[in-house]
Order: sequence, then structure tokens, then C-alpha cells
Amino acid sequence: MFDRSRRRLFMRRRTPDLPRMPWVISEAEFSERCSRCNRCVEACETQIIAKGDGGFPAVDFGRGECTFCYRCAESCPEHLFRPQTEAAWPIVAKIGEGCLAHQKIECRSCGDMCEVMAIRFRLQPGGVALPELDSSSCTGCGACVSVCPVSAITMVFEEQEEE
Ligand code: SF4
Ligand code: SF4
Ligand code: SF4
Repeated sequence: MFDRSRRRLFMRRRTPDLPRMPWVISEAEFSERCSRCNRCVEACETQIIAKGDGGFPAVDFGRGECTFCYRCAESCPEHLFRPQTEAAWPIVAKIGEGCLAHQKIECRSCGDMCEVMAIRFRLQPGGVALPELDSSSCTGCGACVSVCPVSAITMVFEEQEEE
């Protein structure tokens, strides 16, 4: 179970534009101890780890999804990752107003990609089906992000969902 007090610390201290990898320890400790060796970048099976702010590794969901393979963690010589038995991260998808369905254009690309079926489509009277995200089912894998033709999906920390 993800420790909520640690999550708050993680949230408060987090400043980079892109999220860190799953299971990463607190941002403060990470930025202090990560040597930017790039082992995690090379180990990632979907190649979604990019050089972020200051050359520190971060996840770019525009490149693809996280499969939760844990290879980034296993490759880290500095032991900056929590055990795989803990929750990976408090990140979920958020569907924005730019979604084509809001312009009455039919699209279900994100729903088709979501393995856990966290995105359902609700038919609107006289319109097209609108996607709805069940954030309690969303794993934060990011598979829906790069397939959206209008980049309407972002990955946010759970606390930012309602903003
Ligand atoms: S868990 Fe696997 S897919 Fe996800 S960021 Fe780490 S190496 Fe990449
Ligand atoms: S893929 Fe993008 S445009 Fe298509 S339904 Fe999902 S959020 Fe809307
Ligand atoms: S991030 Fe993954 S689990 Fe969440 S809605 Fe997108 S595809 Fe589904």
C-alpha cells in the first residue's frame, strides 16, 4: 500500500514537468541521489524514459505506455525505487475538453487501448458517446495518451484530477 504521508511529501516536492518512473522514492531523495547514469533509460522496454529537467530521467507518455515491467528499478545502481509489491505511483489519466467527442466527432481510440477498461463511453442524446474515466480502475499506464489524435489526455497526480 502506498504510504499517504509519503505521497503528500512526494506531491509537495514534485516540480518536474514529466513524472518520474513508477516506484521512485521521494522527489527530494531522488534528485539528490540520482547520478543520471541513464541505466533506467536504456532498460525501459517501451523506451518511455527520457532525459527530463536537468538531465534527470522522467517518463514521457507521448512515447508510449508503462508496462510496469520494473526494469527501470532493477537497473538502478543507486537503489532509488520502492519494492514492486507497493503501489507503482499515484498517477491517473485525465481526459480534457479537447476530446473529439465534445465536437461531436466519434472517436474511441483511448478506450480501445485501455486494458483495464477504465474508459467507458456514455451515449449522449443526439450526440456521440463521451469518454468517462474511472480513476479508481486506472493504473496510470499511459497507454491512452499517445493514441489520442488530438492529445486530449494528460497524466496527472490523483490530487489534481478535479482541477
Ligand atoms: S516499469 Fe518498465 S515500462 Fe515502466 S518506466 Fe520502468 S522500465 Fe519503462
Ligand atoms: S482518444 Fe482522445 S479524442 Fe478520442 S475519445 Fe479518447 S480523449 Fe477523445
Ligand atoms: S492510463 Fe492506462 S489504465 Fe488509465 S485510462 Fe489510460 S489506458 Fe486505461
